[in-house]
Amino acid sequence: VTEATLWVGGRVFTGRRYVEALLVEDGRVAAAGTLDATRRVAPTGAERQELGGALVVPGLVDAHLHLGELAREGPDLVSARSLDALLERIGVWSTEHPSGPIVGRGWSEEWLGLGRLPNAADLDRLSTDRPVVLYHASGHAAWLNRRALELEGLSARLSSFPAAMVPRGSDGAPVGLLLEDAVGPLARALEEATAPPLEAFARTVRGLASLGLTRVGTMSTGPREAEALRSLDRAGKLSLTVRAYPRLVRLGDFPERLLAHRSARLAFVGVKAFLDGAFGPRTAWLSEPYADASDRSGIALGDPTTLAEALRAAEARGFPPALHAIGDAAVDRAVRLLAEHGEKAGPPARIEHVALTPPGTLGRLDRVRPALVVQPGFVWSDRWLRDRLGPERVRWAYRFRTLLDLGHLVAGSSDAPYDPVDPWRGIRAAVDRRDPLGASANPLPSEALSPEEAVSLYTVRAAAALGDPSEGSLEPGSSGDLVVLGAPHLRGAMRAPGPPVRETWIGGRRAFAGPGPAETV
Ligand SMILES: [Zn+2]
Repeated sequence: VTEATLWVGGRVFTGRRYVEALLVEDGRVAAAGTLDATRRVAPTGAERQELGGALVVPGLVDAHLHLGELAREGPDLVSARSLDALLERIGVWSTEHPSGPIVGRGWSEEWLGLGRLPNAADLDRLSTDRPVVLYHASGHAAWLNRRALELEGLSARLSSFPAAMVPRGSDGAPVGLLLEDAVGPLARALEEATAPPLEAFARTVRGLASLGLTRVGTMSTGPREAEALRSLDRAGKLSLTVRAYPRLVRLGDFPERLLAHRSARLAFVGVKAFLDGAFGPRTAWLSEPYADASDRSGIALGDPTTLAEALRAAEARGFPPALHAIGDAAVDRAVRLLAEHGEKAGPPARIEHVALTPPGTLGRLDRVRPALVVQPGFVWSDRWLRDRLGPERVRWAYRFRTLLDLGHLVAGSSDAPYDPVDPWRGIRAAVDRRDPLGASANPLPSEALSPEEAVSLYTVRAAAALGDPSEGSLEPGSSGDLVVLGAPHLRGAMRAPGPPVRETWIGGRRAFAGPGPAETV
């Protein structure tokens, strides 16, 4: 018995074209075209779904986020504008959540106006018996209380780091701030102390479906997150498709059988490694110094020879690289490391972020052509980028139009929780460049995409970057993952005040239904 659904009475954007009707059979698209042609091939007994003028788009795909971090609930610090405000917010949250570590994110030294480095004593005012860990808005720094510095195994792992990554006091002890590579051992110690419970994962995954997401790439996966995902998958509770990228340096911590797990919903498809930091803390590796700090040009992470060897070993086990590179010097190094990757079957080699691409870097990228996994939402979030890069160089940041025109596989993603997970925010940032208040990292209209192109970044192209090139569209053969929007046009949907998602269907089943009927925007 086939399960068939015939979608009529609206419009369907397949990822390539607009059609009148869509037929999904046993979870896969069987036909997309005119109403007559689609109706003719539908089996008798097909369930008819009336769209009432609404638009259907393929299920959205986020090629780079962090599920384990998203599932770890904690206080939101983004709008705290002083140390007292920050401590008060965490205090309220910790009263409501009385046990376990307190892990918050979203602070920035500029917003707090401290005028000095944050330290452990600041957070000891909150608690001396619960670990307190606050991630910087960029994710590239963490602020800890004394108890968090005492997490099992952490101080041993930090002992070899230079003062630039682990600032120490006159007594030689870490002051409570970890930067760049030193954040890695912390994430590991935290994961070992308390993995987020399965329920939190299941809840997080359901929340993603409410935004229209049906497939995600989860980056820098640790073994406990991976085990949680596998348990959910085996229990039939993984309601969307997950492709996981363990962190290269932790590959040895994974049991071989865990990495070999492969189902329709969950597979481990690559490894993640860092080549530089981020623009916010001026650690993205630039070929010329920062415009607002002429003595700094960021930092290069990892020894190229060791990295190349580790990447080759991972590749030989079937895990192609996903290299974090934000500054142009880091992108150049990524291209050199990937030059020997060559054409292979399976998931593509990728560069994550690939934020700054001056003409020379574009030329080098052209010869290697990895998948380029970008975060359009950063165009809104990095509103201060012109200060960092100066007025000339900033025009080379977040060049989505240029990269698409050069024929690159450009995939959309959020990097959540380090930026909002809502894909509609990213789609709108890729189209409008400026946020509703007019701010932008690089507002150049010549880098703007059409709404259809922006959606393609978050559907077909992102699926291809995750190694599923026949997914992410509503053309025949693709899985029938789809989103019914609460608007008849992409432009209207994009500008809706909230996520414009009326229903999300995964594998031919309804995974999310919003509260009201379609609004006509
Ligand atoms: Zn990331």
